Amino acid sequence: MYAQCVCGATDYKIILNLTKEGKNYKILICKKCGLSRTWPVPLEGDEDFYQKQDDYLERKASLCLWRSFAKFSLSGLKKYKKSGKLLDVGCNLGVLVKEAQTLGFNAYGIDPCGPAIKEGKNIFNLDEYLMTGNLTTLNFSEASFDVVTLIHCLEHISDLNSILEKIYFILKKDGIILVEVPNFDSFWRILLRQRWYSFSLKQHIWQFEKKSLKNILERNNFFVLKINTRHNMYHRLNFSIVGLIKSVVSMLAYIFRKGDDLIIIAKKC
Ligand SMILES: [Zn+2]
Repeated sequence: MYAQCVCGATDYKIILNLTKEGKNYKILICKKCGLSRTWPVPLEGDEDFYQKQDDYLERKASLCLWRSFAKFSLSGLKKYKKSGKLLDVGCNLGVLVKEAQTLGFNAYGIDPCGPAIKEGKNIFNLDEYLMTGNLTTLNFSEASFDVVTLIHCLEHISDLNSILEKIYFILKKDGIILVEVPNFDSFWRILLRQRWYSFSLKQHIWQFEKKSLKNILERNNFFVLKINTRHNMYHRLNFSIVGLIKSVVSMLAYIFRKGDDLIIIAKKC
């Protein structure tokens, strides 16, 4: 018996069988709502996993790359909000918080990983803007933010309805949510199958594509304003034959909006 989907159904179809690092996984699609998920459920019974992560060290070693990644994530926002109070959920070192402040936002960040927050405060001088914890432990007031961003965060969250309900609560009227997740419907995922670099099956509970992510946001009272995709940051220019083929696929992905990452901007209804 499979776990309940976000929509309440338990009826799934197996769409992929994968082996990663010697472990077998299935990707299941919910027959009722079309949302895909990883099976077995990643990190079940390992609730402290994100408190112990050290991926912030890798980010610290390539800050320029992460800053340009954050800049792109925020680039679609200015059409809808140019300033105001912003909260980045799952902020890691706070790179996006720093970039948002540079753009004129009063930006804050939260993350369950204490060492990442401590390091981020030091690097960016963000002492009063970064906090260790999550939306449950930190208890923000109702209607206290203009923008909430979740960059490569939602696919790690088990209870999507609960987190979206909390975000709805802390957003002001007409507040904006910006969600960025790996795109299960990307050209590269279809071509590379289990070798796709964004298949972090140990951690990614959900495998989103445009329609399923839009559905979840709409069911939680958000109105979708913009859907976009982009290439993964690890694509580098390479002037070999293989590099040329990669560039052509990436260009097609760009034209057909089938990039590696899916970015959705939505408004609180
Ligand atoms: Zn479902």
